[in-house]
Amino acid sequence: MIAKHLAYSAFANQLVTYLSPALGQRKLISVYIDEKPTGLTNGINIVLPQTFHGCDLRQDTAVSRSLVFGLLAHEEVHMFQPLRAVDVIRDQYRIFPVFTNLIEDIQGEAWIARLMPSLNHWLGILRKTTHDNNFARFERMLSTTTGVPNQFELALLLARFNRPGQPFDGGYRIALAGTALPYSRLAVIPFAVSRAQELEPDQLPEFIADIARAFPEICKPLAAPPPPPAPEPVETPFDAENQADEETSDEDAEADADGHRSRDR
Ligand SMILES: [Zn+2]
Repeated sequence: MIAKHLAYSAFANQLVTYLSPALGQRKLISVYIDEKPTGLTNGINIVLPQTFHGCDLRQDTAVSRSLVFGLLAHEEVHMFQPLRAVDVIRDQYRIFPVFTNLIEDIQGEAWIARLMPSLNHWLGILRKTTHDNNFARFERMLSTTTGVPNQFELALLLARFNRPGQPFDGGYRIALAGTALPYSRLAVIPFAVSRAQELEPDQLPEFIADIARAFPEICKPLAAPPPPPAPEPVETPFDAENQADEETSDEDAEADADGHRSRDR
């Protein structure tokens, strides 16, 4: 059941006012707790999960408070990001949303920790909880997953949670020698994405476009154009006699040059 949490709402409003007095005066943030697997925000409301890796966030304990501070700081960074402009770039390049979300998270957590360094402590606890619960599973999945976007997602998730003290580990190198994975591409994407940590929020859309151009693996491929219609063969007694000549007709050579597979006759 969704329920407004007054104490967490008060904290979220204090935090946004501290980060941006102008924004804090314009917005009144409400924090709700719902049975969702993770936190989310629409820019005004923040929804926290009821339990986060087994910790009940409705209870006021030292552990739940640490996680709530981290989750609220994480969700608030999205209020400062140009999310609509990011969505335009995402749709233009057909980027799988999981990648734009990841880059937003990395930029946001690094940015807020620069503004208010003590928040990195709480964000670090959040990342360590995810690390302890998921890192080994991500590694196992990467060694068996064959889809290219999934491999790139897992490579970035491993770099994201490898060192929980920081939002992302650009130096993370995937140790997967001997697999059939595109190792060099997978090993280099964390280095490229790491620069998100240095950006201001308004630099995100252009940065994401740069990453999409350098790594088309994170984009949905364009649908292949339909093959050109093959001319209907007209069977005449003359064709049957000269079949050998037909096999190497100019028409076939043209189709091959265009890269289309010629139809079997
Ligand atoms: Zn996020």
